[in-house]
Amino acid sequence: MNKNHYFCEITEKRTYNKLTDITVAFPDADKICAPGQFLHILCGGNSFLRRPISICDVSKSTLRFIFEIRGEGTAALAQKEEGDIVDMLAPLGHGFDLMKKDEKVIAIGGGIGCFPLLYAAKKCGNVSAILGFRNAEAAYPKFVDDFKEVCDVILMTDDGSAGIKGFTPQGLEKMIANGERPDKIITCGPMVMMEKIISIARENGIVCLASYEERMGCGIGTCLCCSTKIDGKMRCVCKEGPVFEFAE
Ligand SMILES: Cc1cc2nc3c(=O)[nH]c(=O)nc-3n(C[C@H](O)[C@H](O)[C@H](O)COP(=O)(O)OP(=O)(O)OC[C@H]3O[C@@H](n4cnc5c(N)ncnc54)[C@H](O)[C@@H]3O)c2cc1C
Repeated sequence: MNKNHYFCEITEKRTYNKLTDITVAFPDADKICAPGQFLHILCGGNSFLRRPISICDVSKSTLRFIFEIRGEGTAALAQKEEGDIVDMLAPLGHGFDLMKKDEKVIAIGGGIGCFPLLYAAKKCGNVSAILGFRNAEAAYPKFVDDFKEVCDVILMTDDGSAGIKGFTPQGLEKMIANGERPDKIITCGPMVMMEKIISIARENGIVCLASYEERMGCGIGTCLCCSTKIDGKMRCVCKEGPVFEFAE
């Protein structure tokens, strides 16, 4: 059997609106998995291809992921209960490079793109976060509370129904204007949000690591269905990414 192929028992499951928060037993997850890497999950039901879901958090013996029900695959996965087994390829891809412990990092997430940033934030020595959601209903309270245990969090919503009204790039611009310039930005979220974050980072000479979410087939770089143009070059998101570095 492939050394990346796991069958993991669900030890904890929570649901919140369209989100499902699953923890599975995964021995040595903290040694094996890097922040920003992802799982390729056989969801069940009629979905034939695996679906990519980010690693949200790990411990010595568990791995957590949170996903939104979008279509057939995620709907079938959300049916699984505690005690059921999840078939996954893990961990896949290239995650966030967070080797320098002394650098000041800002984690900026949008919607489901907030989830991969929790484990990443835990790996940073000096970190704060801006988490953006559509509205209060989308801002999963358990996740936001877990993040607040790791670092200072600025919560933003598009409509102002929770936290500060506005979009995360505005939050970043305000931080920089207040003299709180980070050495590095790590980000994941909708493309339009990440493009804006990358452009603010470049204008201010800040290194930015952005995690891309493309539709994927194999997850291991053979089918190339996730190839996309990044910074003028065709890149295979599952194998070369999903995290790409945009130098200052
Ligand atoms: C590296 C990576 C990490 C991801 N991490 C998470 C995560 O932590 N939590 C989470 O909720 N989702 C995550 N996603 C998105 C998730 O993979 C898709 O929502 C899922 O594959 C949809 O499958 P489905 O069968 O439910 O829906 P489908 O029937 O396949 O599609 C339903 C809708 O979702 C859209 N969609 C499908 N795949 C993607 C995709 N990859 N990116 C954007 N839109 C898509 C389709 O265009 C369609 O509108 C991640 C995607 C990638 C590539």
